[in-house]
Amino acid sequence: MDSKRTNECPCGNGKTYENCCKKYHCGAVPSNALDLMRSRYSAYALNVPDYIIKTTHPASPQHHENRLMWRQSISKFSKSSSYDKLEILDFKENRSIANVTFTAYIRQNNQDATFTEKSYFEKVNGKWLYRNGQLKNGHAPNLITTDQLKMLPLAYYGDQILRKRAAPINEITDDIKILINEMIDTVDGCNGVGIAAPQVHHSIRLFIIRKPINIENNNFDCGDIEVFINPVLSEPSAETWIESEGCLSIPTIHSDVERPVKITVEYTDINGIRHKKRVSGWEAKIIMHENDHIDGVLFVDRTTKEEKKELKPLLNNLKKRIHDRTEL
Ligand SMILES: [Zn+2]
Ligand SMILES: [Zn+2]
Repeated sequence: MDSKRTNECPCGNGKTYENCCKKYHCGAVPSNALDLMRSRYSAYALNVPDYIIKTTHPASPQHHENRLMWRQSISKFSKSSSYDKLEILDFKENRSIANVTFTAYIRQNNQDATFTEKSYFEKVNGKWLYRNGQLKNGHAPNLITTDQLKMLPLAYYGDQILRKRAAPINEITDDIKILINEMIDTVDGCNGVGIAAPQVHHSIRLFIIRKPINIENNNFDCGDIEVFINPVLSEPSAETWIESEGCLSIPTIHSDVERPVKITVEYTDINGIRHKKRVSGWEAKIIMHENDHIDGVLFVDRTTKEEKKELKPLLNNLKKRIHDRTEL
């Protein structure tokens, strides 16, 4: 069905475009994340790139510094795709975070490009914005979770909590266990491999990682969750390696970081049992990156002098974009 000919809104609400998403594209603010998601889908379908740009969170990995290029790439995607159907699988919203899981039945250059996305929205200054999404090819209803929404708002570069030395955890209370579960949903929802408590606004000595598995040429899959409470690192190997790092709190910026190949980590697990193990390679790197967070250190602090110089304007820009929200 050609939605333009029948004038039915591409978002599939069953209404005409004039009575559905047009008002949002003309400046009205959607009152919930589901209406935002639908109106973004129809903006893609009808090639309204400015609406996509306006409703993307400044910390989203989709954010682009160069507006012209960003606008062109959205337009190119819109024009090369046909938007057959939108199916909403799930919608959960709390005061500041929302999830919408949907399947977009689209074709690109006459090939099926259907995908399912569990998208994550944050409310900033009273407006819902698209932040990020977990993607699966095709119709993949397994992205739906039946329990309640557990994702947490992130602390971004420039937030003082990321610079504080976090406090030890004296007791693994029910609140700590709930926080750990929320951190798992947050790291997965953001496609991350690890997250530390200060990144979700809790200045305590706790981080979680997804154990890297099937490592091949610096690519790896995410394995099981590992929880590190009151970790202590020791005996770094003399041998080091250099590899690129990124951080959920410093979106869109990556840089090489030199770290020891091996390190010993002593930590308490979620059941209160103390462990000690020697880790290496990517697992060691992720553990060191997350452990830095609970000491108020960021990966950009560990780059070379030359790289710091290059990163400085990018970081200043990022900070401004995220914390100075006048443009929103
Ligand atoms: Zn609509
Ligand atoms: Zn990080």
